[in-house]
Amino acid sequence: MSRPRFWDPDGVRHGGTPTFPWRMVPEGFATRRQLRAQGLRPGGQEIAAQILWSSRKSRQPRAAYLYRVELAKPVRPMTKCKAEALAKANQAKRICPECGRDAGHVIPKQFGACGHCTAGYTRAA
Ligand SMILES: [Zn+2]
Repeated sequence: MSRPRFWDPDGVRHGGTPTFPWRMVPEGFATRRQLRAQGLRPGGQEIAAQILWSSRKSRQPRAAYLYRVELAKPVRPMTKCKAEALAKANQAKRICPECGRDAGHVIPKQFGACGHCTAGYTRAA
């Protein structure tokens, strides 16, 4: 029984990168796309292995990179921290730079001050 062409789990023939043919990838490895489907991302890890298959179009085999599922990290959702930072940023935009009061809404850039202050200017003008 002959081994499939791209079966090289130790990467002996592929510069140290463990190499598998399609459908023979051991458990625990996943492509970026497969990770994504599970709500995961490589998370900065190096490529752990690769899938190779021959392409009819090119002489060079095509490759898909594999990552270790155990090292994958969840895709960052909107974290609590981030949501708070955003709320704070919006809060800051509500403070009128003229009178320092909370305008109760984000101050429109074209006015640059709360309703009271801009009304005051209009009246004074
Ligand atoms: Zn104001």
